[in-house]
Amino acid sequence: MKTIWTIVLILTATLSYAQTAAQPPDHPSVTVQGRTYTPRSILARNMGTPEDQTTQFPPHKIIGNIYYVGTRTLSSFLIVTPQGNILINSTYERNVPTIEKSVEQLGFKFSDTKILLGTHAHGDHQEGDAMVKQMTGAQVMAMTEDVPALRDMKPGGKEHPIDKMLRDGESVTLGGTTLIAHLTPGHTRGCTTWTTKAEEGGKTYNVVINCSLRPPNVVTPPIVDEFNRSFKLVRSLPCDVQVGDHPAQYDMQTKYAKLRSGSRNPFIDPASCKLEPDIEEAMFHAILAEQQKAAHP
Ligand SMILES: [Zn+2]
Repeated sequence: MKTIWTIVLILTATLSYAQTAAQPPDHPSVTVQGRTYTPRSILARNMGTPEDQTTQFPPHKIIGNIYYVGTRTLSSFLIVTPQGNILINSTYERNVPTIEKSVEQLGFKFSDTKILLGTHAHGDHQEGDAMVKQMTGAQVMAMTEDVPALRDMKPGGKEHPIDKMLRDGESVTLGGTTLIAHLTPGHTRGCTTWTTKAEEGGKTYNVVINCSLRPPNVVTPPIVDEFNRSFKLVRSLPCDVQVGDHPAQYDMQTKYAKLRSGSRNPFIDPASCKLEPDIEEAMFHAILAEQQKAAHP
């Protein structure tokens, strides 16, 4: 009996690892605004090469008190306040020293990180949480529905720290900045889209920090319900500036290039708010249609 459970456990672990590591199929394909995407091309676009995942991207201001401190393909965001800073997404544990370097290069102190948040319980976004907490003493807050998956994330055997469990719609405030946690599940059970406001040039802008909306290779009925709710919710959020947990979800490279040459802030781009949900929702319906056709040929 014990042997059977061991085999089941190994299989489960292998499958859940495979879900993130395996190549998704190169079908179906969808075309949005003249560009064609497949599940494989979206994953490749998001992750880049192993080198992209661990190479520092030049840290920069996005808008107001919000900064980019991640790698080429894994986003980390720093929100600076007079009472300390909020970090969103520690990414892989091996990237934490790179994030620290980016924070310091911007002129801030990594040790001023008071709160650590995340977008979703996958290793490429939150594996480094324990290390960030060790280095800064930050309070780690996570959406309740993602906590079981986070607890399974134990790099080097370290327990995943959870200081506060959040509910859908709950706000996190530090030094005059408030972030609201929106439950947008589908990609994970507790996938969290963060919204806040930023000031620039005497104006206030609505900022949306998206959680991944990328559907898994197989969509089950509960996941279908989650995505139907999440796409609707994401589209309802007021949005002037949109960023995502992978830079490709908001075309960071192009906007960063414009930032260096141009006059107006390229990150203020309401059209960008709709593009990622359009791509992922089209893909979600295409996968669902393909799956239903296979079940009832
Ligand atoms: Zn993910």
